[in-house]
Amino acid sequence: MDIRIERTATPAQKPDSTKLGFGRYFTDHMFIMDYTPDKGWHDARIVPFANISLHPAATVFHYGAEIFEGMKAYRREDGTVQLFRPMENVKRMNSSADRLCLPLLDEEDALEAIKKFVEVEQDWVPSNPGTSLYLRPFLFGCDEQLGLHTLQNAMFVIIASPVGSYYAAGINPVKIMIETEDVRAVKGGTGYTKCGGNYAASNRAGARAEANGYSQVLWLDGVHRKYIEEVGAMNVMFRIGDEIVTPDLSGSILPGITRKSCLEVLRNEGYKVSERRLSVDELVEAMENGTLREAWGCGTAAVVSPIGELAYQGKKYTVNNFEIGEVTQHLYNTLTGIQWGKIDDSYGWTVEIPKA
Ligand SMILES: *Cc1c(COP(=O)(O)O)cnc(C)c1O
Repeated sequence: MDIRIERTATPAQKPDSTKLGFGRYFTDHMFIMDYTPDKGWHDARIVPFANISLHPAATVFHYGAEIFEGMKAYRREDGTVQLFRPMENVKRMNSSADRLCLPLLDEEDALEAIKKFVEVEQDWVPSNPGTSLYLRPFLFGCDEQLGLHTLQNAMFVIIASPVGSYYAAGINPVKIMIETEDVRAVKGGTGYTKCGGNYAASNRAGARAEANGYSQVLWLDGVHRKYIEEVGAMNVMFRIGDEIVTPDLSGSILPGITRKSCLEVLRNEGYKVSERRLSVDELVEAMENGTLREAWGCGTAAVVSPIGELAYQGKKYTVNNFEIGEVTQHLYNTLTGIQWGKIDDSYGWTVEIPKA
């Protein structure tokens, strides 16, 4: 794939890397590629970061034809920049595209686009502990008509944002509310995709949880309102007795790359791991009889996020004395160790970016 590169004449001042937050600053450039039925994907380019101009009837504004990915570029201590399992993001993006009838990407081309873009922006990858360059690839429909029909035209864009450590004040257990009214997804729907509409539909429950002092909701399945699905925009795992349980990928849960990596590490190290249905009743019982030892969310942004309190139907349950658990901490150390190059990547998960 040919990627045209047009560098900005006015590079931005880089923000103070101790005050990055999440998604507030953007790098100097962006990657763009267009899709039309006659040319397929074409005109791949890395150009100065700028607004995108779209027809007011563009499909994305009206019918939500949009999918995205979230991944990070990490700076190792020796200065090298690396990605973590980027092909997994590319494959998931295509799975999302397929569900929403958006055009699929050539996987090798998409990976090359991500790598070339990070290579161009590598000075933007911060080096303070826990910081990284968050990458946001997204793909949307832009047909210029209001009729509902099979999509014809689309754009694939990648932007990047230097982000701070999720745990600026150290790893902190969070309070989670089990949501009993709204649902996030149902089997047969779009729950397994990263499509924008899923997040719009989650906002109300998230806002209610926040207003009540909780940081996220834990979703139950949309049919029985009984089985655990995931937490906000993270997958969820529980250590009950000597078993580590996570909901199986039944179609309504997002197949997280952090989830997959945690499972691979745990199985490789001989832990007893089950991907299975877990009912909220079984969880409540485990909290009441003391067999729930740890609970954590997992996703790219936080890596792992220990759960210190769960609320269900007005009752509050403290998990592991509101402390980070042993397995949670171990997964955090292992994954962040590989991502920032502090421990040996025996799984072959990292992809180095050539130095400029
Ligand atoms: C992105 C996301 C996750 C986590 O996926 P990772 O690949 O681990 O970052 C989990 N649940 C939802 C709903 C998500 O959007």
